[in-house]
Amino acid sequence: MPEPAPEGLADERADELAVLVAAARTCRPRAVARLISIVENGSPALRGLMSRLAPDTGRAHVIGVTGAPGVGKSTTTATLIAAYRARGLRVGVLAFDPSSPFTGGALLGDRVRMQQHALDDQVYIRSMAARGHLGGLSVAAPQAVRVLDAAGCDVVLLETVGVGQSEVEVAGTADSTLVLLAPGMGDGIQAAKAGVLEIGDIFVVNKADRDGTQSLIRELRTMIAMADRDAAAWKPPIVRTVASREEGIDDLVATLDKHRAHAEADGSWQRRRLERARSEVESLTLLLLRRRMHDDHRTVLDDLAEAVRDGRVDSFTAADRVLGDVTDPKA
Ligand code: GDP
Repeated sequence: MPEPAPEGLADERADELAVLVAAARTCRPRAVARLISIVENGSPALRGLMSRLAPDTGRAHVIGVTGAPGVGKSTTTATLIAAYRARGLRVGVLAFDPSSPFTGGALLGDRVRMQQHALDDQVYIRSMAARGHLGGLSVAAPQAVRVLDAAGCDVVLLETVGVGQSEVEVAGTADSTLVLLAPGMGDGIQAAKAGVLEIGDIFVVNKADRDGTQSLIRELRTMIAMADRDAAAWKPPIVRTVASREEGIDDLVATLDKHRAHAEADGSWQRRRLERARSEVESLTLLLLRRRMHDDHRTVLDDLAEAVRDGRVDSFTAADRVLGDVTDPKA
C-alpha cells in the first residue's frame, strides 16, 4: 500500500522521498547522501522525511568523539570503524565543524574515507555543516543521526572538529561520549575546556606512546574521583590508546559495550534519550514560534510594537497576544 504523502509535499515529491527512504534503508550510499543533504540544507522536504523515518529509529549506538584538534580524533575514528566492521556491523560517521562556513570540503570525515573505507558499502562517512538549517547543528545533528539509524547503521560515530559549546552540544547528542586527551598537548586537562570534561562517559588517553601519559592519567583519575556521583552510577573509565598503531582499540570497543550495558541496566540510557528528545522538541518549538512570528504574523507583531511604544498596551499583554495569535490553530 502506498504511504500517504507527507504534509506539505506535492505528490510527486513525496513519491521521490519514499523511493529515497527505501533505498537508504538498504544502505545505498547515494540515497543516504541525498537524505543527509535534505537535513543539512533544512529543505522543505525535511518535515516529511522526519515523519517517515521516525518509526525506524532508536536502534543505533550513537557515539560522540570529542577533544582538542590534533588529539587523534580522526585516527581513532578510523580505527573504531575498522574494529566495528571486523564485527560485521554497519557504521555511520558524521563529522561536524560548527565553526566552518564550508560544507563538504577537506573535513576529517573525507580524509578518513579516502584512507581506508572508500570501497566498503557498509560504512557511510559524511562531513556536515548546517548552513540552511533552522537551528543550526545542534538541531541538525539528531536529524542526521536518524537518517543513518534508519539506514541500518548499528553504530553512528559523531565527530566534532573544533572545540567549543556547539561541539559539546553535538557530542551531547550521543549515547556514549568519548573525550580524547593526549600527553604533551599544552596544559593537559586544562586544554580541554568548555565543559568537555563533564560530558565524558569514557576518557581516552591517546598517544600513550608519548612521555607524560602517566601523569595525565593521574591528573584525570584525581578529577574523576572528585566528581560527585552515586556509588551505583557509571564512573568514567580511562582507556589508553595509540590510535596510530591501533593499540587499545579493542579495549575501547569493550568499554563502549560496557557503558551501553550499564546505562541500559540502570535506566540512564532511556533517561538520556528522553532528555535529548525533550530538548530537541523544545528547541524546535521555539524556532518554529520565532519563524512564524516573523514570517506569518509580522503585522500582529508590528501593530503590538507600536501600541507598546505609545503606551497603549504593556509589553506582557502584547507578548501574550502575539503568543495567542501565533499558536492559534485557526490563524
Ligand atoms: P584530530 O585533529 O584530533 O582528528 O587528530 P588526528 O587524528 O588528525 O591526529 C593528529 C596527528 O597525531 C596525526 O599526525 C596522527 O597520525 C597522530 N596520531 C594519532 N594518534 C596517535 C598516537 O596514538 N600516537 C602518536 N604518536 N601519534 C598519533
